[in-house]
Amino acid sequence: MAQIKKVLIANRGEIAVRIIRTLKEMNIPSVLIYHAEDSFSQGAREADESIEIFGETPVAAYIDPQNIINACHKSGANAVHPGYGFLSENSAFVSQLEEEEIIFIGPTAKIIKLMGDKISARSFMIKHQFPIVPSVVEEDDPASFAERARKIGVPLLIKAAAGGGGKGMRIVRDPAELDSQIEQARSEGQRYFGDGRLFCERYIERPRHIEVQILADQQGNCLHLWERECSIQRRFQKVIEEAPSPTLSDTQRSEICQTAVQMAQKAGYSNAGTVEFILAQDGSFYFLEMNTRLQVEHPVTEFITGIDLVAEQIRVANGEALAKTQAEIQINGHAIECRINAEDPDQNFMPSLGPILKLRAAQGAGIRFDTGLREGQKVGSAFDPMLGKLITHGSNRDQARRRALRALRETVLMGLTTNINFLQRILELDAFIEGDLHTHFLEEFSAQLEPNEIDEETLKLLLAAAASMDPQQQSGGAEIPEPYASIGSWRN
Ligand code: ADP
Repeated sequence: MAQIKKVLIANRGEIAVRIIRTLKEMNIPSVLIYHAEDSFSQGAREADESIEIFGETPVAAYIDPQNIINACHKSGANAVHPGYGFLSENSAFVSQLEEEEIIFIGPTAKIIKLMGDKISARSFMIKHQFPIVPSVVEEDDPASFAERARKIGVPLLIKAAAGGGGKGMRIVRDPAELDSQIEQARSEGQRYFGDGRLFCERYIERPRHIEVQILADQQGNCLHLWERECSIQRRFQKVIEEAPSPTLSDTQRSEICQTAVQMAQKAGYSNAGTVEFILAQDGSFYFLEMNTRLQVEHPVTEFITGIDLVAEQIRVANGEALAKTQAEIQINGHAIECRINAEDPDQNFMPSLGPILKLRAAQGAGIRFDTGLREGQKVGSAFDPMLGKLITHGSNRDQARRRALRALRETVLMGLTTNINFLQRILELDAFIEGDLHTHFLEEFSAQLEPNEIDEETLKLLLAAAASMDPQQQSGGAEIPEPYASIGSWRN
């Protein structure tokens, strides 16, 4: 007898749609909360029920626990899926749900609290002798913080205890700048997270970001679903992710995956989670943080393992034991995810706003396009600029990469500027093809990632050629310059 009868999704955008789809497949009714800014979204259209929420700002509406609890009472939803971001790692919210006897589709409040704070997570890993980067914590002795940090030696990375999304982190290469950088990191921590607590660690040069997907039930079983490589980053934020990592040896892979399982087991973890590691050039790896929720990049893992992570999260939250053994979770082929953002890479990634005039996803084998957008919807500045994710799967890495290139070329997203062309340029770089990745990859190849200039005359010719080659394109809406779609590989 299933406990979960109706699920409220405390999120928006592509992840809300993604969760609704699995709920439909499981015959579980869905309820979506939405702010007026999202009333026209795909999620609001696909959910069985939708309930409007209010707040001082659109984001404030989504992070107000009372809005979620009221919506559960109103709709009769007895479980909440938090998606990622917003309230997904807020332990106080999870405790509130527990009091209301509403099931949280995720781990316990206690684990979220332990892992949500980078300092307590770090202490936990040290206590259990897991590998972490040499580091010092300010609150252990505030007066000697800078001095203790200097002893580690530059380069250093100052981090905010409550940090996330790459915010509140500062690299220090010159010891003379340490004091001023500490102050800047503190004020950034205060501004973004309302928490100025800091710690400082050795900055690893040219590292790779490797993370392991974990799945654990309430009976104490814990499995890994292999790793993801997320080294293609901009300002510490992921841009392209893939699974498996292109260059880990089998020994490294099994060592890092087993370490992640041991960490999760020690913490008494349940539900889906991700252990993030930094992998140094010499092959050593260190714990970065544990994310106690579904990650943006989870679809690459779903592609290579064939496992629906949201369905597993729901089963575990229902008290069911994991159905598979570790030996049954095999890697099948390779998957790559590209994050499509409303931004202009050629104008220093300035956010781009506007209506979605035309939206057409690429199709074919091994292609998945996750978005919460609909044609006619306006993209404003209220939320994150991520518009959607294009995920491709192939029998090997090169097939997944070529498929991603084709799919990006065929994706039509008109009305605002996106990074689609920039993503194509990354996938075409020799170093990317060779899998020679590190977290400063985009900086290192910035010159090669510049767009190719097309002069006006060539552009006119291309437009004319595209228009005459495909007469059916002419029958679309009159206000949309369709020929642009046919030459989508140049600009979107
Ligand atoms: P956040 O929670 O803000 O995402 P993380 O600790 O997960 O912060 O780190 C984000 C990224 O910052 C990593 O993927 C990596 O690129 C970089 N990073 C973090 N710690 C280090 C380190 N000690 N040395 C080098 N790079 C690091």
